[in-house]
Amino acid sequence: MDKYIKILNLSEIEEVVLSYGQPKFRSKQLIEWLLAKGAASYDEMTNLPATLRERLADEHPLTETHIVEKQVSRDGTRKYVLGLADGCLVETVGIPSLTTKSGTQHLTVCFSTQVGCAMACSFCATGQEGLTRNLSSTEMVEQIRVVQKDFGIRVSNVVSMGQGEPFQNYDAVIEALRFLNANKAFGIGARHITLSTCGILAGIERLSNEPEQFTLAVSLHSANQELRNSIMPRCKNQPLGKLKQALLEYVTKTGRRPSLEYTMIAGTNDSDKDLHELIEFTQGLLCHVNLIPLNNVPDSPFKPCKPETYKRWIRALGMHGVEATLRNSRGSDIDGACGQLKNTLAK
Ligand code: SAH
Repeated sequence: MDKYIKILNLSEIEEVVLSYGQPKFRSKQLIEWLLAKGAASYDEMTNLPATLRERLADEHPLTETHIVEKQVSRDGTRKYVLGLADGCLVETVGIPSLTTKSGTQHLTVCFSTQVGCAMACSFCATGQEGLTRNLSSTEMVEQIRVVQKDFGIRVSNVVSMGQGEPFQNYDAVIEALRFLNANKAFGIGARHITLSTCGILAGIERLSNEPEQFTLAVSLHSANQELRNSIMPRCKNQPLGKLKQALLEYVTKTGRRPSLEYTMIAGTNDSDKDLHELIEFTQGLLCHVNLIPLNNVPDSPFKPCKPETYKRWIRALGMHGVEATLRNSRGSDIDGACGQLKNTLAK
């Protein structure tokens, strides 16, 4: 399966080229053709020696990341189902800015880091699927390239809030983000790159030591251990006390403010007790709280909470010195919003 060039990580592509006895700059040229220029075949790569192109075509076939399905939301958000070399499908969302104050339009890409997800969060559509496989760094950059090409405008921001848990595929994710940050075809500022995790401690610790200023978002959803265990069962071994400790260290090391994501579920995590536990968790921690209205997931018993609750929570958090905002869920009419990504075609 991993013979396809795009299923290899960028670092593995480099190893293949070196193993053919070619100099390192050839791998840079190859990667440039694949990811910056979006070449559809090895024949186009005219600055590579013909022998190298032939061998690559033979041993590592080049396939196009194709748009299997595209849905356009009333708000301009586009959700794509992308087909990968081995037939796996993955979802990616392009979210254009609504206002163009300065005349420049922003485009955010919500990309996937895995095919499916192993975390099984009870309110998330991707969690119902289980994990099929990790995506390679190449496949992650491909998602950004395909969306950039389809919109015809430069991608300004990326967030790892598609399918998958990025910190269970840490090396490939960082490799992809580094490429998006450094390659001039993308040149996305590190501060415009957000990593969202369900709170894998080892990943937060590693990110604290990376030189780039990527933004960290942690999906908290409850500051009560028992409740969090029930809605995020695979996070049991990443306890809240240690999570807070890891966040405090992240802030100390990076000087950056992480976001805490909190999806509000009626009758589950939206009581006054839940609010007080959240406030308690935030005390002493530099953070921003992002409340997310629950999006509809088929066959799910969970319902969104009343709109008044968000306002009350934002006010209460503010009174305790915590900046909180309500996420405007884009693309929910096309199931392109948080927690709605599921490979329906695959099932
Ligand atoms: N695994 C990563 C990234 C993927 S999900 C993480 O957990 O952060 C991106 C965000 O959408 C997470 O905060 C996730 O908890 C949230 N989410 C999942 N299902 C949702 C739903 N049905 N409605 C609203 N947000 C949801």
